[in-house]
Amino acid sequence: MCSFQNPDNRISILQMNSELEHAQLELLGAHCAVHQLRLHYSSDDLARFGRRDVLRKSAEAATALRDFYAAIESKIPHAGPSFSVPQPSAEQIGQAIDWLAGYLREQREHHSAVATPLTNEGKARLWPFFSADLLDRIRIIELRGARVRVPDFFAKVRALGFEPPEITHMDSVTFLDIIAFNQHVSERALFHALVHAVQIDTLGLQRYAELWVHGFLKTRTHFTVPLEVHAFSLSSKFLRPMTERFSVEDEVLRWVADGRY
Ligand SMILES: [Zn+2]
Repeated sequence: MCSFQNPDNRISILQMNSELEHAQLELLGAHCAVHQLRLHYSSDDLARFGRRDVLRKSAEAATALRDFYAAIESKIPHAGPSFSVPQPSAEQIGQAIDWLAGYLREQREHHSAVATPLTNEGKARLWPFFSADLLDRIRIIELRGARVRVPDFFAKVRALGFEPPEITHMDSVTFLDIIAFNQHVSERALFHALVHAVQIDTLGLQRYAELWVHGFLKTRTHFTVPLEVHAFSLSSKFLRPMTERFSVEDEVLRWVADGRY
């Protein structure tokens, strides 16, 4: 453990903040996994049928994390009940929607020359869930750690005092009909990204961007945006053993009709 009383210790502070950020990304991943669990199973079922050793260790880890961060939070100057999340104006929201739609369109162009079609084996596994037309149109690219470009407008969003989503932490980003994977293609990430492609086809890019931004503003975490929740839950359903075929297009249309996005 080291102390930062010495003002020359700038490098150590940078290092500390980079580790803090790394831990925050890991926590975001854990939060997302627990959110999925919560969507699928009741706490009663988890307590009754879950492996006890796993449940106990998970609860211990969560409690230790809460205690650790709560102790720090109590020492943050000016933190407390008076702290409130800034709310953007209607004009700023409209601007963010245009920025997001523009970014998705521009990145589609950027990746289009090198993106490749799905393999026949890949399509065969997915055809019960997506239309042949969509699977033929989709192109993919694996960035193998190079990661998608953080949108330029994120800096403008931050300058206005808001925190944009953690885009580099996502497994993949769907740029209309081109899917970029930050690392390698995994079945879960591909299915998730394809759900977004269906959502964009069904809603249109502008409406998709509008619903994404409004959903994000409600909770400020990307995985609680209803468009994301649906993609996470359908990809989990797809990966369940012995899952029956279902049409993602029908599922998306149902959520649109029910106003769940
Ligand atoms: Zn997503």
